[in-house]
Amino acid sequence: MTPGGHVGASIVATYVITNYVFKTEVTPVVLGLAALVGLLPDVDGIVTMIAKRERPMQQKVQHHRYVPHSPLFYLALTLLLTLVVPPQTAVLFGALTFVHLLLDSWATDDGIMWLWPLSRRQFGLFPRNLHAGGVFGLDFYLRVLRCAPVIVPEILLVLTGLTLTFRAVSFAQLG
Ligand SMILES: [Zn+2]
Repeated sequence: MTPGGHVGASIVATYVITNYVFKTEVTPVVLGLAALVGLLPDVDGIVTMIAKRERPMQQKVQHHRYVPHSPLFYLALTLLLTLVVPPQTAVLFGALTFVHLLLDSWATDDGIMWLWPLSRRQFGLFPRNLHAGGVFGLDFYLRVLRCAPVIVPEILLVLTGLTLTFRAVSFAQLG
């Protein structure tokens, strides 16, 4: 999933959890923070690009095989967060990072380490190797556009996220 899809999914998940589980009105600030948390697991991609000099325009950045892309890591972080933030904030953090990992397992060529630390094997659902034949950078994203199982959820998440953000901003201005 691209960063746009992760941001869209984070906004949708936050909207649903805040409104229907916590029964409180979501604010634009909360949605903005949710977007950042939804991107948090990909910090290991930035570290990989710097430390291993992997260039996304020339090769696949292999960041799904590191601990910041494992469920147990975020379960531990969520439990630690409960010590310093309200429980609802910790629950939202745990849910958003879990959604990120789910999306990184969807129609991908590698998936994430769902069983770490028991195993470093990566699991994906409906695998699609869009890097096949050495396709990276812009050519990779052009291939993404032609792959319905990838691009349809991506577009739906981005459009729904934009709609919910617009709605939250509109209500904030009215209130
Ligand atoms: Zn990721």
